Parts: sequence; structure tokens; C-alpha cells
Amino acid sequence: NSNELSPWDRDHFFHPATYAGAHARGEMPTRVMARGDGVYITDTSGRTSLDAFAGLFCVNVGYGRQKIAEAIAKQAKELAYYHAYIGNGTEAPIRLSKMIIDRAPRGMSRVYFGLSGSDANETNIKLTWYYNNVLGRPEKKKIISRWRGYHGSSVMTGSLTGLELYHNAFDLPRAPILHTEAPYYFRRADRTVGEEQFAQECADKLEDMILAEGPDTVAAFIGEPILGAGGIVPPPTGYWKKVQSVLEKYDILLIADEVITGFGRLGTMFGSEHYGIRPDLITISKGLTSAYAPLSGVIVSDKIWQVLVQGSDQLGMIGHGWTCSAHPICAAAGIANLELIDEMGLIANARDTGAYLRAALTEVLAGRRNVGEVRGDGLMAAVEFVEDKDDRAFFDPTKKVGQQVAAALLERGVIGRALPQGDILGLAPPLCLTRGEADIIIENTASAVDSVFVN
Ligand code: PLP
Repeated sequence: NSNELSPWDRDHFFHPATYAGAHARGEMPTRVMARGDGVYITDTSGRTSLDAFAGLFCVNVGYGRQKIAEAIAKQAKELAYYHAYIGNGTEAPIRLSKMIIDRAPRGMSRVYFGLSGSDANETNIKLTWYYNNVLGRPEKKKIISRWRGYHGSSVMTGSLTGLELYHNAFDLPRAPILHTEAPYYFRRADRTVGEEQFAQECADKLEDMILAEGPDTVAAFIGEPILGAGGIVPPPTGYWKKVQSVLEKYDILLIADEVITGFGRLGTMFGSEHYGIRPDLITISKGLTSAYAPLSGVIVSDKIWQVLVQGSDQLGMIGHGWTCSAHPICAAAGIANLELIDEMGLIANARDTGAYLRAALTEVLAGRRNVGEVRGDGLMAAVEFVEDKDDRAFFDPTKKVGQQVAAALLERGVIGRALPQGDILGLAPPLCLTRGEADIIIENTASAVDSVFVN
């Protein structure tokens, strides 16, 4: 049980996203998870919680799906590994690439497979640089991301990420990465500005940055269709259309980071479809395998592919790839996962149950002084807490009220997540969530909020 494991955990295990000191002192004990079923997960001491965050926005089909476990086992027994360097390959990633392109937005033609969202965005950065080198414009290399965007935590993708927590003391962001304003309407101080006008302001700021830097130096813009880890913030009305027209004007590529939104989270196969985005490159991971095995990908449009073809004909092999790129076990998990999404009707369920969850949460939390906003889209919801909703005064961050609400929710048997840089409770349950399970999340969120704030 956890008690037996805790000394090893404390003394030897380096957690991702850790508080090293508190962990080493034993102040942050680890809840060791043992098994899961649907939206429920149970730890080694036998305590079960409803996981309203799908792990980390990723277990879209829910826990315990035997179909995926069997596909992984079958692949592992038949052939656990062979590489995919040119001239070689295995069946599963080839089949999976076809399934992804069949489901992808128009104009997409190839899939490059990696293992994490971070490494897929590294691939994106390299592809945009390669693209511009082949086109004979080596100075066009800057990439614009957004404050509050989350794109990974490697050196370059941690640079793309627009959360200071991921920069501090790591000497990030690295050139040539720049950040523009987050399309975060709730935090726009002046409320006489309408939502669409705010979207225009964001597009104008992007254009100002491009002009100040020189359009010939800017290669790409990267954004999540809806900001995820940075606060679950849907784009203001008209945002993507306006941004896209700026990018087109200056011949700048658009990378849609669909690590969270790919494969159904917003009630459509891709978030790009949902918001009318026409990307040149799409990042996928999480929902691709529902995290049953680590897998990511970059979906490459035909426009980019044609330049890669030209480049390799001129320069030789494209020097990019990993030992475990297109790993057959992970790809087998991906195939079974995508089949399950179709068989279980999870995309329609995300749309319907997501709308129900957000509407009911909005209703139940209405009138509470400390609930500034309930927002989201599809099966993603956020509750942002403020000192007073009338003047939207934000809490002193050291009070960590978002974390207090998440802890109170956990005490009530539901896992949500306090998102960084703000007092925001994030909810993103598995896409198989039923209305009855949504009701459990709603009731317990209201109760947790009331236990933290005296309204
Ligand atoms: N992009 C987005 C939108 C993400 O949400 C994440 C992870 O949360 C990443 C990229 C990075 O993925 P990974 O943690 O697998 O490296």
C-alpha cells in the first residue's frame, strides 16, 4: 500500500511538476493509484474518486477499457518494437496514420509520430524552420505564442508555453520565441469593450508585434483552439477568424496545438473544426491514445509536405526522428482508442453532456459572490474565483483559494484541478461521462465552493 511505498517515493522518485523540498520532507504524500473503471479511479488504500480531470485532460475514453489493453498486449506479444526509419516500419502506425488523416480537417496529408505533446511541438518548430530554409528565407524563424498558452516543458516548448512558472530559473523563453496577449476576455479590465472588439484588439496586437519584428522574420503562430492548462479560456467571438487573416496577410504558418482538443474534447473531432481554424500543422497527443500508452503526432498539411518533399530531394534525408517514433505498441493503443471513440459515440456525448455540465454548473453557482465566471466549451469547464464578482477583484494569489476549492472537492470524492496563475478550478472529465456522473460533479463543486467561501 501507499505507506510501504512512501519512503521509496520520498527518497528516490523525482516527480514531474514537483515541489522538491516539500516532497523530500514528506509534506506532500503521494496518492498512489491502482485501478480505474470508467470515470472512477481507486488508490492503493481502496479509496475511489470520480476523476473529473481525466488524468491530465487525457483519459478520454475512461479507465479500464479492455479493448485497448488487449490491443496493447497483442502487439507486445507479436512484435513489441521495430523502428520506423525510412525503409522500415510496422503495421500499427501505418494503419493509425490513415485513420487520423481520415478524421483530420481538410488539407492534411501526413502524420509524424512522437511520444509526448512536448516532443510533437519540438517537431513543429523544426518543421517550420526547415520549411522556410527550403523556401530560401532563412531569416523567417520567429514563432509567436500566447501568454497562458501551454505547449510543453522542454527547452523550446517550455519557451512556447506562456506561463512564468515554466520559465522561471530555467532561462526561458529562448529566442526566437515571442508571446502575445492571451485572448482572456474575463481578465480584460475595461468592460465597456465588447467581446468581439476585444478579439480585434488581440488580433491588432499580434499584427503590431509582427510589424515591429518584421514580417519577414516571423515563421509561425501557435495556439490551442481553447486555452487549456492556462485557464480553460474559450476564444472570444471572432478571435480565430481575425487572427487567421493577420497570419495570411504576412505568410505566417498556423500551428493548432490540439493536444487537449483533438479527438472529441470539444464535441467535434478536432477543435479546429469547432472554431473554423485552418491550420498548417496540428499537434496531437493525449486523446489519441487516451494516455493508455504515450503517443503524440504532428499532422502535416499538404502545403508543408510539398516543401518537405522538395527539401529532401535537394538536401537528402530529413534529420529528425527518435528510436521510439511510431512505436507499434502505442499505435496499437491509438487504433483501439479511436475505434472506441466511434463505437461509444463519445464525441456526441462530449457535446451533449458537456453542454449539460456547464449549464447546470452555471446555474447552481449563480449568485455566489466569489464565483466570477463559469466558462468552457465541450466537455471542458472552469470556475474562476474572485474576491467580489461585481468589481472582479482577484484574490491575493498567496491565499491559493483555487487550490483550496480543489482540495475540498477531492475530500468530497471528485478530482478537479486548480490551474496555475489564477484561482481557477478546471474540470475536464472523460468523454464517457453520464448525466448522473455530471450531477455528482456539479453537487460536489457547489458544496466545495460553499465550504471555502462564506457567501
Ligand atoms: N500542448 C498542450 C495543449 C498541452 O495541454 C500539453 C500538456 O498538457 C502539451 C502540449 C504537452 O504535452 P506533454 O505533457 O505530453 O509533453
